[in-house]
Amino acid sequence: MNALAPLDDSEPCKPAAALCRAHKFGGSSLADAERIRHVAGLLLADDASRQLAVSSAMHGTTNALVALADAATAGGEWKDALEALRQRHRDTARALLERPDAMLAQVDALCGELAELLQATSLLRQPGRTALERIHGMGELLSTALLHAHLVERGGDYALLDAREVLVVRHTDLGAVVDWEQTARNLADWRARHPQARANITGFVARDEHGLPTTLGRNGSDYSAAIFASLFKADELHIWSDVNGVLSADPRLVPEAVPLAAMSYREACELAYFGAKVIHPQTMTPAIARGLPILMRNTFRPDFPGTRIDAHGDHSASGPVKGLTLGGDLALVCLEGAGLIGVPGTAERVFAALHAAHISVVMISQGSSEHSICCVVHEREAEAARDALRDAFARELAGAQVHGVTLQTGISVLAAVGDGMAGTPGVAARMFDALARARVNIRAIAQGASERNISVAIDSTAAARALRAVHAAFWLSPQTIALAVIGPGKVGSALLDQLQAALPRLRAEHNIDLRLRALASRDRLWWCEHGGDADWRTRMQTTPSQDNLDALASRLLDTHLPHAVVIDCSASDGVAQRYPEWLAAGIHVITPNKQAGAGPLERYEAIRAARAKSGARFRYEATVGAGLPVISTLRDLLDTGDDLLAIDGIFSGTLAWLFNMFDGSKPFSALVREAHALGYTEPDPRDDLSGTDVARKLVILARESGMPLSLDDVDVESLVPDALRGADRDAFMAGLETLDAPMRARLDAARANGCVLRYVARLERDGKASVALRELPAEHAFAHLRLTDNCVSFTTRRYCNNPLVVQGPGAGPEVTAAGVFSDLLRLAAALGAKL
Ligand code: ADP
Ligand code: ASP
Ligand code: MG
Repeated sequence: MNALAPLDDSEPCKPAAALCRAHKFGGSSLADAERIRHVAGLLLADDASRQLAVSSAMHGTTNALVALADAATAGGEWKDALEALRQRHRDTARALLERPDAMLAQVDALCGELAELLQATSLLRQPGRTALERIHGMGELLSTALLHAHLVERGGDYALLDAREVLVVRHTDLGAVVDWEQTARNLADWRARHPQARANITGFVARDEHGLPTTLGRNGSDYSAAIFASLFKADELHIWSDVNGVLSADPRLVPEAVPLAAMSYREACELAYFGAKVIHPQTMTPAIARGLPILMRNTFRPDFPGTRIDAHGDHSASGPVKGLTLGGDLALVCLEGAGLIGVPGTAERVFAALHAAHISVVMISQGSSEHSICCVVHEREAEAARDALRDAFARELAGAQVHGVTLQTGISVLAAVGDGMAGTPGVAARMFDALARARVNIRAIAQGASERNISVAIDSTAAARALRAVHAAFWLSPQTIALAVIGPGKVGSALLDQLQAALPRLRAEHNIDLRLRALASRDRLWWCEHGGDADWRTRMQTTPSQDNLDALASRLLDTHLPHAVVIDCSASDGVAQRYPEWLAAGIHVITPNKQAGAGPLERYEAIRAARAKSGARFRYEATVGAGLPVISTLRDLLDTGDDLLAIDGIFSGTLAWLFNMFDGSKPFSALVREAHALGYTEPDPRDDLSGTDVARKLVILARESGMPLSLDDVDVESLVPDALRGADRDAFMAGLETLDAPMRARLDAARANGCVLRYVARLERDGKASVALRELPAEHAFAHLRLTDNCVSFTTRRYCNNPLVVQGPGAGPEVTAAGVFSDLLRLAAALGAKL
């Protein structure tokens, strides 16, 4: 009996020993002698009784052959490159084989043939298709011979099949189509001469209907393997590459891409058609016909199960989208004109014109108004496509029914694929939303009628960012956010430490991936290529100083991460000056810096305008009450339709502490000195005592409530005596005692009225704003605060008899940093993270 005879299809479940397994090895699996040895080990360890091994060329060989043919056609130099190719295969033969002589002779013979073909090509300059295909296919002849010789040396009983002897294909618009009958006859003849149970077969190459050598097109050895697996009625096809199967996206563009356990033929076809290089799109055709399961596996990780592609796919997969692909080097050709509306047959004429010009259309999109038809075509065919449409619609163009045929190059198509998309509402919305948030402009949209594919045409410059944003939106990878932190002072340092500590949990539990990309101080910029690390302090110190902020925005956006955030922990007005520019560029800004919120009104308005236009967020919760939810509470009240009547509060932790402590037992100056020593005050305590800081916070809250207030509009009572206002810091500290007598008098007066002294801010609904030292009844809420507590009391239409109070520690680097951090998490949630 012929050991390679077709199997009986009706056999239900075979023992391994009765199986026929087909394997296909890609170029990376056959990159050098060591890899080939490894592959041979896998084949010899396979317990299937019958086996096919289809090989591609050694890694990079086909590219080299294509380059050789191009060089020869152009009349350029090719001999050195050919010699390098010959040496590479000779070296591999020597390293792989114990008795390499026959193989070396074969390498020389094939390379000799190649030299003749190239010589003829360089003379003719216009090589025929056959010569080219013969050249291109040479790599598979070499690699398969090497693997075969090695397997035989190791005792394997293998036959060697040059696919050009049997596989007959015809080239059509749909690619190479197999002449199954002729091929089956040829194979039967070959099998009669080769009784072995195992065979090595050249991938990629075939012969055409005239018997001339041809190939199945780039990446075509996957297709070869499926064809031979089908001819030999194999039970399984294992396609071995250098990745753990089919991943949710190209791992070179999305490092977080995850391997898929299983997928349906249809899903694999869609992914492959739209450019997932991992498998050739035609591979599935012979497999579908026989229900042949394809297993995509990694030669570097043979223990990993890989991806199973079959008729059923994977119904347990969590989301509707299985994978994403990105195809580049495309162009958009659009036909536009009011005269197209309702005219039957326009689309047909567009396709007929493109078909006649042999242009393949990657994607079509037609507005329902029929005002325009857009086609995505390969960039190399774009001008021909435009000219074909101009010719076809010349009459309409002349008569102005068609305004024009436009061409735009530099286009990529991003496609989302998944059987689960059919009948699941909201998939397109989620995709478009993710693209909008990542500032990606969509040029054209198409959804396959099967609902298993949604494709968008976008600018290639945004392609990588778009892919990552959509990948994250479907939970295929975490929401990745690029961060730049400005001002690693007390708050900035606390924030960086908090971030470092929280990163693993955020990633594991909430799918948020925060990547510190830049750290800027007044005179240094450390650009962290790999997302930062815990040792940022040393790195910052060793970074050379430079003027930095100009390049920050463009470099931050350049990272291809979908979202970018600047966190400004400086107190600098110059940094705040840049917010409008950053927000306009789509960079989110988070800050505890009060300069923007309380600075010039025009700038504040420019910030709001920039943010409204770009959709970027500006968050500043930590500017008032540090980590306390003051601004978010106010926003919630206003957004739910409440009316603000008044805001009262103690907004300064320093002044709160001073007046909590000031009971007359110590002079006021002694308390100021104590607070200074404890680090409760600014370096110059006048910054606290002047009341300006409190006034700034009040301005921020007023503006949040819709009142266009500025610092000048706030009536501020400064506690700094007039005589000490202009003094230097030491002179001020030395003269502190001048405060004691007036403060003591205020305290005594308050006590006489049964009151306490508190430094409070007040905003009324008519915009009246003041900060001042006031006497409050002893039972007042503000009279019972502890230490440096802040307290904000909102009187509103709903909370009118009993105001809504937010109270707690409102100063210090740790709590301020926590306020900034929570802004960052709210932002991540708004961008789509699961929180
Ligand atoms: P081989 O030479 O083994 O045929 P290819 O280079 O043709 O390998 O295809 C494998 C490569 O395809 C991977 O290394 C990977 O970079 C790329 N690739 C692109 N998209 C995907 C995807 N969705 N899943 C896995 N790999 C992909
Ligand atoms: N060696 C061929 C190519 O590089 C075929 C293949 O690898 O699938 O296109
Ligand atoms: Mg391949």
